[in-house]
Order: sequence, then structure tokens, then C-alpha cells
Amino acid sequence: MITLDESGKIDILDLGFEELEEQIKAIGEPRFRASQIFDWLHVKKVKEFAQMTNISAQLRDKLEKKFCIKSLFIVKRLESSTDNTVKYLYELEDGNHIETVLMEYNYGKTICVSSQVGCKMGCRFCASTLAGFKRDLTSSEILSQVYETERDMGGNVSGIVLMGIGEPLDNYDNVVNFLKQVSAPKGRNLSLRHVSLSTCGIVPRIYELSKLDLGLTLSISLHCPNDKGRSEIMPVNNKYNISELMAACKDYFKKTGRRISFEYALINGVNDTPAHADELAALLKGFICHVNIIPVNKIQERNYSSDRAAAKRFAHLLGTLGINATVRRTLGADIDAACGQLRREYEI
Ligand code: SAH
Repeated sequence: MITLDESGKIDILDLGFEELEEQIKAIGEPRFRASQIFDWLHVKKVKEFAQMTNISAQLRDKLEKKFCIKSLFIVKRLESSTDNTVKYLYELEDGNHIETVLMEYNYGKTICVSSQVGCKMGCRFCASTLAGFKRDLTSSEILSQVYETERDMGGNVSGIVLMGIGEPLDNYDNVVNFLKQVSAPKGRNLSLRHVSLSTCGIVPRIYELSKLDLGLTLSISLHCPNDKGRSEIMPVNNKYNISELMAACKDYFKKTGRRISFEYALINGVNDTPAHADELAALLKGFICHVNIIPVNKIQERNYSSDRAAAKRFAHLLGTLGINATVRRTLGADIDAACGQLRREYEI
């Protein structure tokens, strides 16, 4: 994917390997240079052409004139004292801010990346919406969250979740390009089996994503099993209702064979009654999937609350109704690791 910065330079981290080869050929250089440069960018993860030491000064000069390597700057780095969760507030080159969270599980580290600066979706319980939507992230800005964090931690993450600020399927082209870049065999080479993409349910994009069969896990932010209740907390449901969403999920499973994960943020008095559990079980009956119950994270502006005990009871109830459900581990609670909270604080 070709993206230009304000001065007309090509953002080199947006280019796939073949695209880079084309560009290198166009400046009269042999193809193998593309392999070297791709390796510097995606394996050694350097931030400047000057660090590409097996490339002549003359060529580095040519590269500087035609391409740019965009950077992210760490503005804040918060480390949890209860687990090893680290939350980064990154500044983009245009002064906007995004959040990235690094979480530790027993099988390795997983990074939660943002896909947009803010969000347009307007989910009532979500802090990302409150700070307003500014713009989409470019593919390289999503990728740089991974690389910058990996530079900071000194190693590689083993998984990625697209669950930070923004709606990934509302920034479809950049997100898909990011997925191709991060999994490029000659580059970072991360298997997309270790990637989850979370969406509030932009139905046409789910169909498009199924066709690509990238091997990633789709997480659906469901949060309520009926249209009336879901529309109240998630305006996107007015555009794509639950039956349209479920049809798209079934198509995704049919085309990719990947089990879907449904997110359910439990909110006291809103979506937590035994009747909700019954409705949810009926909705998901016979569909191979997993439900993640998350006690809703409190945000200042809303009166929503929940607790772990309620989440456990709800998950247990679903289990008795034949639905595979677990309560999501809460990480980084002491550093407000849930999405959108830090950026919001910073934008005010
Ligand atoms: N826009 C995407 C991804 C970003 S949000 C989506 O909607 O899926 C990542 C997850 O966090 C979603 O499941 C979202 O519904 C959930 N979430 C947002 N605010 C929350 C809160 N206050 N408590 C619990 N989960 C929340």
C-alpha cells in the first residue's frame, strides 16, 4: 500500500515486500537491496536509514529522499504493580495520541493495538468514544505500535489483539495491510493465528474479511442478546442488527473454520439478568463459539458497574445452558489499562 507523508515521501513501512521491490527497481537498484532493506525495517526494526549499515551511503541518501520511516514517541509508560501489564501512551507525528497495552500471559506477551485515533461508534460504556474521533491510523502507525513496544521491551510479542482504541473494520484497508505486513514471511513473520480482531459488528466488512481467510480470530463485541437492549448501548446495532450480525459470523466460521469469540461486558441492571443468559444461550445455540464475560470497566462519565462475582455467576449460568463461557482475566487494573482511558485524560 502506498501512502505519502506531507512532503510527498512514501511511508516505507506501508509497503509490502513486492511493492518495495518495485520501488527499489524504479530507482535503478538491484532487487536484492529490497530484501536487505525489508529485513532492516521488519526484522532488525531500525528507525533510520542511517542504521542500515550494509547499504552504501549513496543509496541511503537516495532512500532518504524518496521514503520516510514514521516514528511513534512514548509520552507515558505505566507499569502495573500487580501484574506485568505495561500501558503506553504514544504520540503520532501529527501530535495525536493513541494507546497500546502490553500484557503478559503464561504463554508469552500479547500486545493490544489501536486502529484509529478515537472512535465513531459511540458505544455507551466505552471511553474511546468519549474523547472523540480524529482520524484513521495508517497501516504503518498500527505496525509501529508493535515495533516500538518490542524495541522498548527488548523482544518479540507472541500475539496481537486489535482491541485498542478505534473500530478496526471502520479502517478496513489499513488494518488489512497491517495484517499482511506483520505476517510477511520475509519480515516480522507473525502467524495470524495469534492475532484477534475485535469488532462492534460492521457486517459487510466481516463478509469481506471472511473471503480473505487470513486465519485470525474474530471477536464480536455483542454485549446484549436482543436488538432493543443492544441498540441502547451500541448505536451500530441500528445499522446492522443481531440477526444480520449472526449471519455474518456463521459465514465467517463456514469460510475460515475459525471459532468466533463473543465479548460480553456485563453491566449491572442492563444485560445481566437470567433472562439475558437464556436469550444469549438461545442465540448462540449450536454455533461453535466462545463467550468472554468481562465485568464492565467503570468510566467516569457513566454510571455503569459490575463485579467479578456477577461475571462468574453469569458465565456459570451460560455453562449450564450449554454455552462455552469464561470470565476474562482483568489485567492492569491499577493503571487503567482498559482502552481509551489514558488518551482521554491526556486530551483534556
Ligand atoms: N471497536 C472494537 C475494538 C475496540 S474495544 C470493538 O468494539 O470490538 C475492545 C473491547 O473492549 C470491545 O469488546 C469493547 O466493547 C470493550 N469495551 C469497551 N469499553 C469497555 C468497558 N468500559 N468495559 C468493558 N469492556 C469494554
